[in-house]
Amino acid sequence: MQTTSAEYDVIVVGAGPAGLTAGIYLSRAKMRTLIVNEGAIGGQLVLTHEVANYPGVESVSGYQLATTMKNQAKKFGCEIRSNAKITGMELEGDVKSVEINGKDRFFARAVILATGGRSRTLGVPGEEKFKGKGISYCATCDGDFFQDKDIIVVGGGNSALEEAVSLTKYARSVTIVHQFDHFQAFPHAIEEAKKNPKISFVMQSTVSEFLGDEALEAVNIRSLLTDEVTTRPIDGVFIFIGYVPNTDGLPDEITLNSSGEIVVSDLRETSMKGVFAAGDSIQKRYRQITTAVADGTIAALSAAEYLRKLGAPLEILEDAAIADA
Ligand SMILES: Cc1cc2nc3c(=O)[nH]c(=O)nc-3n(C[C@H](O)[C@H](O)[C@H](O)COP(=O)(O)OP(=O)(O)OC[C@H]3O[C@@H](n4cnc5c(N)ncnc54)[C@H](O)[C@@H]3O)c2cc1C
Repeated sequence: MQTTSAEYDVIVVGAGPAGLTAGIYLSRAKMRTLIVNEGAIGGQLVLTHEVANYPGVESVSGYQLATTMKNQAKKFGCEIRSNAKITGMELEGDVKSVEINGKDRFFARAVILATGGRSRTLGVPGEEKFKGKGISYCATCDGDFFQDKDIIVVGGGNSALEEAVSLTKYARSVTIVHQFDHFQAFPHAIEEAKKNPKISFVMQSTVSEFLGDEALEAVNIRSLLTDEVTTRPIDGVFIFIGYVPNTDGLPDEITLNSSGEIVVSDLRETSMKGVFAAGDSIQKRYRQITTAVADGTIAALSAAEYLRKLGAPLEILEDAAIADA
């Protein structure tokens, strides 16, 4: 088995907006930077069909924005390893190591964790069986499979309401099923959904079971007020009920909060020396591209400052623009 071993100044784990931003800042400051990424480059960005709230860019597809960020990082010399499953991580001491795919091992004096998050599942009977067979967590990816179909959107936050509106481009009808009697979304998102003639609402209710043979055919909807269960034939269900931080498998020394989010300081320092964290995987209230790129910036600058103070034998630090910034 051919193996690789290499040294870097900083290893960034995750190539979503937070990790790519860290990569841009670090490599532009001439730090040897490696980003290792398990999923699609761009992370959740590539699940976003249109980004209309990234300042300076009126409208762009998530995929395009991710590609631009990736190219920008590479232009400055950042290396990116995709399809990189982390199989070992030693974060103690001044030299850290990250092993990927059980064979390649990389060393660095600082690590930035930017592993983001993933969709939360309902966890009810039938959900596993019908994933990809009528159940989806991504309107951009699967919306056009539901041309002129009747679908349900589960959830009541920004993602649920915005994606419900975007799904009306394809679907004949969209029913939003939400557990509370009010939405936890921005007023403009609520307004857009309410004024859309294809959208209707089933409040204080939840999907309690997915039914079908080979593919999804119906759902059971349970009223949280009366406990009454109604079976409703449906072509598809999109679930937008929040996220789970990708923090499984981190060393125990990295402090997580009760939701599994990485606890960080203002400088995005974790509980381990020389290990920083950024983006959706950290403890914070608002998860947006702008907040992820802000975290990535702060983590990169903090990592650079850490390396400078460490007096690491990394000659490039002497010239790093970042040190003078
Ligand atoms: C459907 C949808 C629509 C959205 N729309 C918008 C919008 O319009 N505007 C907006 O501002 N925000 C939007 N968001 C939120 C925004 O996409 C996220 O806040 C942002 O992508 C978070 O960036 P991140 O870099 O922290 O994490 P992510 O984007 O989650 O990227 C993390 C990366 O790390 C990788 N990874 C995870 N674990 C490991 C591991 N162990 N080893 C290696 N790699 C790993 C993942 O594969 C992924 O590539 C949307 C999100 C979704 C799901």
